[in-house]
This record gives sequence, C-alpha cells and structure tokens, in this order.
Amino acid sequence: MTNIDLLAQKAQRLRLQRFSLAAVSYIIGGMMLLAVSMLGSDHIPLTPTVASVFMALVVIANAGFYLLFRSGFNQRFADPSLTIPQMAIGILLITFLIYFAGSYRGLLSIFYLAVMTFGLFHLNTRQLLGLSAFTLASFAFMAVLLKLNHPDAASFMDLFAQLAVIGGLLPWFAVLGGHISTLRRRLVEGNRRLEQALAQIREIAIRDDLTGAFNRRHLMDLIMHQKAVADRGSYRFSLCMLDLDYFKRINDEHGHLAGDRALRAVAEILAQQVRVGDIIGRFGGEEFLILLSETPLQAAAETAERLRQQIEQQAVATAPEGVAVTASIGVTEYLAGEPIEAALSRADRALYRAKAAGRNCVRVEMPPDRDPTRRMIGAV
Ligand code: GH3
Ligand code: MG
Ligand code: MG
Repeated sequence: MTNIDLLAQKAQRLRLQRFSLAAVSYIIGGMMLLAVSMLGSDHIPLTPTVASVFMALVVIANAGFYLLFRSGFNQRFADPSLTIPQMAIGILLITFLIYFAGSYRGLLSIFYLAVMTFGLFHLNTRQLLGLSAFTLASFAFMAVLLKLNHPDAASFMDLFAQLAVIGGLLPWFAVLGGHISTLRRRLVEGNRRLEQALAQIREIAIRDDLTGAFNRRHLMDLIMHQKAVADRGSYRFSLCMLDLDYFKRINDEHGHLAGDRALRAVAEILAQQVRVGDIIGRFGGEEFLILLSETPLQAAAETAERLRQQIEQQAVATAPEGVAVTASIGVTEYLAGEPIEAALSRADRALYRAKAAGRNCVRVEMPPDRDPTRRMIGAV
C-alpha cells in the first residue's frame, strides 16, 4: 500500500468520524423532539406521525451519507467530505423540526449554529454566507407555511424577530468561520513547509555537500547496521575503498574548482554503476567507500574493476580539458563477527597495494580464513 493510499484512508476515516459526530447531533435533535412532544407545543400538535416522519428523514439522510462514505463514492465529488450537502440537509431537518416546535422554536434555532460549526474549519466565507442565506430562506419558507396552515401558531412579529436574529447571527458566524478556515489553511501550509524543511535538514545531515554521497558519519552508521545483519547469519557484503589517483596534481594544475568538479563526476558515475541497496559514502577528501550488499569477494572485485573502468572512460568527459581522472580501488569482504575496523584496514591495505602497483587498478585482500568451528556452523 502506497503512502498516498494510506493518506486517503486516513482522510476517509476522518470523514466518517465527522459524519458520526453529525449523527450524534441528530440523536440529540431527536431527543429534543421527544422533549418538545412531551412538553406539548401550544398550537400545533406534535403528533407521533410528525415525530416518526422526522426520525425517518434523519435515518434516510444519514444512511445515504453513510453509504456514500463506506462505498468510497464520496471521493468522486470535488469535496469528498460532502460538507455542504451534509450541512444543507441538516438545515432542512432542523427547519422541519422548528415548524412543529411551537414556543420552543427559538430554542431549536440554536441547532442552526450547531450545523454552521461543522463548516467552520472547512468552508470559506463565501460558502458559509451561502449556507446562511439558505438557512434564512428555509426559515422564511417555513414561516410562510406556518402562517398559512396555522395562522394562530405564531405572530408575524414573533417570526420576524426570530428571522432577524438568525439573519444577524449567521452571517457573522460565516465571517468568523472564513477567518478560522484561513488560519487553518495557513497552519496546514506552515506544517507542510516545516516538513519540507525537516526533510531538507535530514538530507543535509546525512549527505556530503559536494558530491551528494553519504557523509562519513552516516556511512559508518549504515555500515554498522549491515555488519549487525551480517553477524546474524548468511548475509554477506564487501567493501571497496576507492581513492583518486594523483588528485593533488589535478588541483595544483587545474585549480581546486576543477578538482571539485572531478570529484562530483566520480560520485555520479559510482551512483550510476552500483545496485539499489549498495551504499556510497565519501570517506575522506578524495576517497570513497562503497559497500556492496549481498556480494562475496569475487563479485565485488569484478564490480570494482567495472567502476574503475567507468571512471577512466567517463570522468574525462566531465573533467576539465586534458585532465585524466583515474582511481585505485582496494576490495575486501567483511567476515562475520570481526570488528568493522579490521575489514576497513584490509580494504585500505588492498588500496595501498593498488597504489603501489602503479595506480588505476584494483587489488583484493582476502578476509582471514574463517575459523573451522565457524565453517561448521556455516555448513549446518
Ligand atoms: P594518490 O594517487 O597517491 O592518491 O595521490 P593524491 O595526490 O591523490 O593523494 P594525496 O592524498 O596526496 O592528495 C589528495 C588530495 O585531494 C589533496 C587534496 O587537496 C585533495 N582534496 C581532498 N578533498 C578535496 C576536495 O573536496 N576538493 C578538491 N578539489 N580537492 C580535494
Ligand atoms: Mg589520491
Ligand atoms: Mg587520498
């Protein structure tokens, strides 16, 4: 499963959570309805039929949203959270309830605010203002119906006053919500930048600036990890110590910057040539250490020879005019259980021999014979 899948799954879980929160609000709404019906509204009988219709509408609406989320169908919409449709349905349901609430109309209007809070973190001011207008229109429509069907249920003034209060409060909520959404967006953006910066800092901490290869500290960490794996069993790795030939001369004759360019070119060639899982680090000034994972000595020597040839052929192209860049390489295999310094100094000795043999060549240093008991364990 990719990271993107995991993130999508997490977002989907959050949406379901938010939806559950809304569902709980509906249960509270249902209980209010029950309370209103028991207290008895003064003019309109809140009959069991009305209560059942309300509950049925709530169940249908929620079941619909639940199915959308569960099936993943919601992800086809521009806003997969379905914030606006969920809020709009909520507003309609509350308006339905208010119609029958009698003198508890004012009390139930608070639920409009509860619905608005769902959009506070997600919607911008324009969307929240749109929903405020939708709320006002629903309330006004409900008030007209109420006046037509039950002229005595509420006075014009009463309904108008309520409309004015809702009309004053909701747009203010919308502005506030837009502000919160902006803050939230800035926070998200800030977090993203911080994460980016952290990733950059991590890279800086483990890589060598000039060549992009791992720096010595991180290289040693990785090697120690490989050693631990090799010490546990059948995993084997080899080490190649690579040193550029007559590098001081390149610097002296062509300048330090030319030397730097040559170093970068060599690092690039190495990175192209080794396999995924192999490790390249800058061990010192113009020295690289390459760990070849799952590679016994013979294969490592062949790889080292290939690296040497590639540097000889390719580095000339990137290096300044007339500069021949070559490398000498010392190779050894790590022997399970030995101190890592032992393997490193073997690779160093092999490198020294390559230098002594005239440079631009590979030399191998065998690990000491495995002790017989070890070999027997290995054979088992
Ligand atoms: P040999 O073939 O024996 O390795 O000869 P050499 O000249 O390469 O060896 P030596 O160790 O005497 O010199 C290494 C030189 O590498 C010395 C130093 O100026 C140069 N060097 C080390 N780090 C850098 C670097 O980051 N950039 C540049 N341009 N040169 C570097
Ligand atoms: Mg050198
Ligand atoms: Mg050197």
